[in-house]
Amino acid sequence: MSKVYKNFIDGEWVDASTGETFENRNPANWDEVVGIFPRSSKEDVDRAVRAARKAYKEWRLVPAPVRGEIMKKAGDIMVERKEEIARLMTREMGKILAETRGDVQEGIDTAYYAFGESRRLFGHTVPSELPNKFNMTMRMPIGVAGLITPWNFPMAIPSWKIFPALTCGNTVVFKPASDTPATATVLVEILLEAGVPPQAINLVHGTGSEVGIPIVEHPDIDLISFTGSSKVGKIINEKAGRQLKRVSLELGGKNAQIVMDDANLELALEGVLWGAFGTTGQRCTATSRLILHEKIHDKFVEMLVDATTKLKLGNGLDESVQVGPVINKGQLETIHSYVEIGKKEGATLLCGGEPAEDGDLKKGFFYKPTIFVDVKPSMRIAQEEIFGPVLSVIKVGSLDEAIEVLNGTVYGLSSSIYTQDVNNAYKAMRDIEAGITYINGPTIGAECHMPFGGVKETGNGHREGGWTVYEFFSEVKTVYVDFSGRLQRAQIDNR
Ligand code: NAD
Repeated sequence: MSKVYKNFIDGEWVDASTGETFENRNPANWDEVVGIFPRSSKEDVDRAVRAARKAYKEWRLVPAPVRGEIMKKAGDIMVERKEEIARLMTREMGKILAETRGDVQEGIDTAYYAFGESRRLFGHTVPSELPNKFNMTMRMPIGVAGLITPWNFPMAIPSWKIFPALTCGNTVVFKPASDTPATATVLVEILLEAGVPPQAINLVHGTGSEVGIPIVEHPDIDLISFTGSSKVGKIINEKAGRQLKRVSLELGGKNAQIVMDDANLELALEGVLWGAFGTTGQRCTATSRLILHEKIHDKFVEMLVDATTKLKLGNGLDESVQVGPVINKGQLETIHSYVEIGKKEGATLLCGGEPAEDGDLKKGFFYKPTIFVDVKPSMRIAQEEIFGPVLSVIKVGSLDEAIEVLNGTVYGLSSSIYTQDVNNAYKAMRDIEAGITYINGPTIGAECHMPFGGVKETGNGHREGGWTVYEFFSEVKTVYVDFSGRLQRAQIDNR
């Protein structure tokens, strides 16, 4: 019997008001049902928002360091349950155990960072232009936060949003991706066990159109934090914009790694293997373009193809496996359609290019790590986010050309350059248009206490992670205290 999961609304574990459910299956073995989940509707969202609104009245008045202690406790529980959560996550979305352990660890780090930040929600004190007057700013909570997350980091991304949202004094309505609802449920259980007041966190499972849109459009939700595709991000921005909601959008990417002729090639090889094929290429920061200096192009491609064809595919619960499945059948088909497009566009396929179906692999959705060379920067496989294990290699003659190619997409999330020349490194840091640049590291590897996000169609200028996300989840209030005992008119009485 598959485990039946529920929503958490208004302090109770409940079924969807529709009475309907959906299944969550293991992408490495589609016969395995991970759980049955409520398929919720606007009515469930409405109840969740009412509860969160009610809870906000009290939660906003709990001292921030006390809220922070609850986040610390949640981190402690995650430490105890780390292995169990990692295994559940591998079953529900496929990535290998080393990576799902890392995903849980990112949640733990984020919880502990929230604990620290809860004592650092700084305002400013600023001199007044008038005598006997005191000026300052304070950080205020905003209200009810609607949080919508994707499936590729089932614990880390919800943690990036929920911990700072609650620490700042907001209450939460959370809709996880319908491909990873089990891990999301565990996170909510942990927060409740740690002491978050039951109505302050509400979990509503379901689809983007049936639950996501009602969250975005709900007039009593004050801010939206969304991570997902640029296509959906634009829809959300438009809808939320009509109500002038505060919106944070963390969207797609088409990240590139540059390898210069002076690079340490072994290091650059390890970097691109991890960047392109880690999480089966399904990271917003995945390396999907490799920009090679012409002097090392042929040698590096040979090294790369050799190493790529040795990668072991399989069920991520097997510790020897390096590449897990892709998330579902639809995504497998999308990836394959891009491979066909690449071939038609005239790129040369060197390895992969088809689903992997040997033995047990045919039970799930596996795709062979794929490399194209002779890719032109304008080809669709070099421009559009594929979100799978497909790497497009582009040859360039100089650093300037490499940076121009790197910058030549609508996205701007992560970027990387391998070079041993300090001048190249600094020029890249200055000229690359991206939210994140790694020097001698792959395009993936964010740390939770650093700002995370991108430019152009990757987002709308906000950052998750680090101190910056606390700015998103709180409002600045300016306070003037006049202790002169008389009316003092700024700009007038001091002139
Ligand atoms: P998606 O945009 O399809 O879905 C993301 C979430 O939005 C899901 O919970 C989904 O149910 C919901 N949703 C879908 N349509 C909606 C709508 N119209 N209104 C409201 N909610 C809606 O993305 P995905 O397939 O889950 O994730 C992959 C995408 O996420 C990729 O584009 C990837 O680059 C991006 N991503 C970005 C970051 C980042 O931080 N920049 C991190 C991870 C993933």
